[in-house]
Amino acid sequence: MTRPYEWNPMPHELSVICPDCSQCATFHFAEARLIGRNADKPYFEASKDFEVVKVFQNGWRSLALYYHGLGLTGLGVMDDLPEGYAASNWKHSKYWIRSGSGGRGAIACGACGARRKHRLDWPADAFFQIAFRGRVLWAFDRETMLSLIDYVEASDRKPVRRRGRQGFLMKVPTHFLVAKSRDRVAKKLRDRLRMA
Ligand SMILES: [Zn+2]
Repeated sequence: MTRPYEWNPMPHELSVICPDCSQCATFHFAEARLIGRNADKPYFEASKDFEVVKVFQNGWRSLALYYHGLGLTGLGVMDDLPEGYAASNWKHSKYWIRSGSGGRGAIACGACGARRKHRLDWPADAFFQIAFRGRVLWAFDRETMLSLIDYVEASDRKPVRRRGRQGFLMKVPTHFLVAKSRDRVAKKLRDRLRMA
């Protein structure tokens, strides 16, 4: 299983196409923590708030996954964890890094009410995506979509800061940015934005 998401930093929440109604839904990445002792496994297996998965990380290991966005017991009120674990272990980092959960997470859709676990397939799942001459251009969410539109439309493009929400603009291929394509790409992006 490849885990490109952690090498290519993404926000903890993304705008995705709802698998049920195709409207704009939110995907929340899950957080994982290593289960250190086999004796702790039964607790996590029995808990409705966690899922135990096996992953290969220098050998087979068990992780306890907590799904943000599923409406489970809040981390702030969880008080019966086995010794050595704290609910804060499953909090999102303030940076765009996560703890080995790969593409696992949950979808919540405000339009149709769907709420369930989902394995992210990016950028196929991206709500804010367009195809232009055979290639796909995407943004994480509404905010980054607006930045993307500005970036595409700019005739005098300033260098992008590597860190932060605009960093992904560095990866936008020139395919979408050359002067002769700019207007058509921007129009497609704006049309998609209106559908959110
Ligand atoms: Zn939906």
